[in-house]
Amino acid sequence: PYAELRNYFNSVEGVNYGELKSLTNASFALSESVRCTFLAIQSDPFAPGSQVRMSCPCPFQLQKILQCSELSSCVPCRRIAAEDYILRSFHDGHRRGVARHHSGALHVMRPSQHVLERSTVVLVNGDRERGGVEVHLFARVKLPGHGRRIDGHGAIRIFYDELLPIMERCVVGLDEEALYQHVTSVHDQEHLRGELRAAGCVAFVANGSVLPRESGNSDRPLGKGAVPFVSPASLERTFHLPHSGATVTGMGLPHGLILIAGGGFHGKSTLLRALEVGIYNHVPDDGRVYVTVDPTAVKIRAEDRRSINGVDISPFINNLPFQKTTTSFVTSDASGSTSQAANIMEALELGSRLLLLDEDTCATNLMYRDDLMQQLVPREQEPITPFVDRVTDLIQNHGVSSIMVIGGSGQYFPHATVTLVMNAYKAFDCSERAKEISTTFMSSVQPPKKAISVFVSPMQRQFDGSGTFSTVHCRRGHDSIKVSGVGVDSIRFAEETIDLSLVEQIVEEGQVNAIAQCLAMLYDGEENGIRTFLAKGKSLKLLYSPSGGSEPRNVPFYSEFAALIEGCDAALRDARLEARTPSCYLPRGFTSAARRFEIGAALNRLRTLRTLT
Ligand code: ADP
Ligand code: MG
Repeated sequence: PYAELRNYFNSVEGVNYGELKSLTNASFALSESVRCTFLAIQSDPFAPGSQVRMSCPCPFQLQKILQCSELSSCVPCRRIAAEDYILRSFHDGHRRGVARHHSGALHVMRPSQHVLERSTVVLVNGDRERGGVEVHLFARVKLPGHGRRIDGHGAIRIFYDELLPIMERCVVGLDEEALYQHVTSVHDQEHLRGELRAAGCVAFVANGSVLPRESGNSDRPLGKGAVPFVSPASLERTFHLPHSGATVTGMGLPHGLILIAGGGFHGKSTLLRALEVGIYNHVPDDGRVYVTVDPTAVKIRAEDRRSINGVDISPFINNLPFQKTTTSFVTSDASGSTSQAANIMEALELGSRLLLLDEDTCATNLMYRDDLMQQLVPREQEPITPFVDRVTDLIQNHGVSSIMVIGGSGQYFPHATVTLVMNAYKAFDCSERAKEISTTFMSSVQPPKKAISVFVSPMQRQFDGSGTFSTVHCRRGHDSIKVSGVGVDSIRFAEETIDLSLVEQIVEEGQVNAIAQCLAMLYDGEENGIRTFLAKGKSLKLLYSPSGGSEPRNVPFYSEFAALIEGCDAALRDARLEARTPSCYLPRGFTSAARRFEIGAALNRLRTLRTLT
């Protein structure tokens, strides 16, 4: 029994490679529980691998792990955490050498440290015949050849000595207790993030968290020498974690302006980086599990040379030389300050309630202006209003907080709600001292507080589909263009390249693929599709997190452009990240969920983008 696929490969050994096409849609039982289905077959041995779906019955008790007996009624973040665990267990098995064979022919998308919804492993209701919930795992397998002839024996080793043992040991035979811990941890993380607002906090860092990473190119926690985080007593908060029954104590950062000061190399950027990815849930041994921020947090930085279209940057930049308008700013080559101003405005437009800034990557002239400079260049001649003069407006009039790393200037002291000082990786609450210093030493304290905001809500910005796509041309002989993700750093959009290397909250390749799909959906949908996405976006009452949670929509700013992005995001999530749109060909199993901020960031960086304002 279970030798059908083996027999097939034996029978085609040495036969012309094209013969393998007959496997398309064929399905084989490899063991009592594991099945393999061929979805698409490569045309020759050198082409990208064939698409294969491995499946088995759900290897755990639904009730215990998902707290329900029906897949459709379970809490999404539990289902997603379980899928994430299965994918990790598969990769772990591969690494630990569970297989008797290593072909190098197998390609299954790798997860980052974060728990995201992905199309790689999915739990689905099985078909009528077999019934019950099943696990589907999507892989690419390079079916081997001798030149242009089939290497049937090589293929047998891949399926029976490599894929099958890993499926049996690591998926069918997964460690249900570890799975339970993983799912419980993720559910608690999601819960904690949801509690922040009601507790008056925008961020939380648990005591004992390990924030530094192993190295610049590894996101695993630093092992030896890591100093665990300890909250200053004055900021300590305790939260109950209902799913594990535990409580967690740590630093709660309140709504407002939070400064992270301190000397160089004392751990400021490391703390901020942990907060940046606090929008995601992490694997339980990550060190940052209970480092959580408002789910709408956006990292802001300078990004010179990016393009900008139709963004109102006038709250920060006005009266540019040569009468260039800044209420609907357009450039194909932004400066440090204009790019940072646009990044702020675009984050607000998409509904951010928390901005994260690190002086290491900010444009100095957008951040501060001191008295001496003011004497040399009077206010009237300076187009820039620095962030220091706007931060309070955002807090008081729009409920948008900021957390910023500032080691080089005290200008923000009078506006700060909390001032932390990092010293030798320890956090101290120096809010009182910073206030004292600013009242004693600062001459021009605080511009008069304006009750009227310079930020206008809702924002008037619409996506202009025909304008954006009129310069984009179809491939010869096709109705579609080619849109594809390239690693974590860029998207190819027909002839254009969208640079995402400075969009720092994108953490895995699958997210870039998903964003590429969203852009392709907009292109392929044409005017009608765009209208449909817009209507869908406008009707949304809930906004989804990348790990399956949801929260009521309650955003300070808004625009039609933002609603369109939300509609597109929701359509892709409804399709479980497999949109199958003609312009974005992707093998199954290579997408992960991104937030609307990152999807919007990609569209905002498309150099052919046109908007109506
Ligand atoms: P800053 O931004 O204050 O200049 P960084 O955050 O860049 O400092 O940290 C400097 C170095 O210290 C980095 O190599 C980082 O990995 C390490 N580091 C940061 N926090 C810790 C910690 N809690 N324990 C051990 N090493 C740390
Ligand atoms: Mg730094």
